[in-house]
Amino acid sequence: MRRSYSALAGLLAMLLFCPSVRAQQPFAVGTASAAPGQKATGYLEVPAGVDAATNIPVVVVNGVKPGKILALVSGAHGTEYVSIIAVERLIVDLDPAKISGTVILIPLVNIASFEQKVPHVNPVDNKSMNRFYPGKSDGTQTERALYLITKQIVDHCDYLIDYHGGDLDESLRPYAYWGPTGHSEQDRISKEMVLAFGLDHIIIWSERPTDPNATRYLDNTATVRGKPSIVVEAGHAGTVETDDVALLVNGTLSTMRALKMIPGEPHIIENPVWIERLSDVLADGPGIWYPLVKRSTYVSAGMKLGTITDYFGKVIAEPRAPVTGVVLHVNAVPSLKKGDNIADLGVVAAHAP
Ligand SMILES: [Zn+2]
Repeated sequence: MRRSYSALAGLLAMLLFCPSVRAQQPFAVGTASAAPGQKATGYLEVPAGVDAATNIPVVVVNGVKPGKILALVSGAHGTEYVSIIAVERLIVDLDPAKISGTVILIPLVNIASFEQKVPHVNPVDNKSMNRFYPGKSDGTQTERALYLITKQIVDHCDYLIDYHGGDLDESLRPYAYWGPTGHSEQDRISKEMVLAFGLDHIIIWSERPTDPNATRYLDNTATVRGKPSIVVEAGHAGTVETDDVALLVNGTLSTMRALKMIPGEPHIIENPVWIERLSDVLADGPGIWYPLVKRSTYVSAGMKLGTITDYFGKVIAEPRAPVTGVVLHVNAVPSLKKGDNIADLGVVAAHAP
């Protein structure tokens, strides 16, 4: 009998202390709390401060089996619709009975942008909701919201995917960002994530803030805190095309397979186009934009990208490509004011990383 008691004690100790056999735990974010095998909805409650309060919807899909915590965050730019609709699809489709670990989904960070159809910024304080991380508890609404996302999402996840796309005025081809850190294990995992996601153009985002108190971007906030993370972009100019939504939904599922959170093999892209540098072409002043290129067009340095006229039809500028590369996105509408992004070109990397 003594032998079996000690065997039982050993088994108990293993169950308690060995992470591979520990039981899945309840999980809560904001007001959403899910037992193992459950899906729960709630809000990140951003309190009022110098301006109004807001509630950001959050969903917890808590798997039946233990595992890692993956955060999926979308809608920092509330009119990049494909990214929001893709995460909405995942909220419905992800089945906690089939998941190891926990998925936190935030489909729409910037509710005022979505409801009022305002691109690029939160109309409450006129700030981009992906430029003020890690946020401030006593700042404006954008800063208070990002502070909560840092504390409640980033600090509690193991991996993070940030979803974007072409905004109302951006004709964008799909691509991903991968930000290497020099930490080999973290970079190996984030690279595996971006290859499993499967978008065929990947920007190597090397020069980014490293100060944890001035990280600016969401994925960089997670990266600097040691969590492998990527950015993915699809969709353009207010459209919600099935193929674009599928890229983001299927890419997420493939990445979850690579992270061993759902069964099956990931679909790893074998030969992506790696982009080593971005070149923004900005408008010198107001005018009417007539493009000569489309998203995904390959251009050589010096090639004319389009013409800009004044309101009398007189050509006032002919912006040219400063580099040889691919048009990642181009202004989708005739309106231009000083400082607007006319096009964003990606320079193809000489070597794959
Ligand atoms: Zn965006």
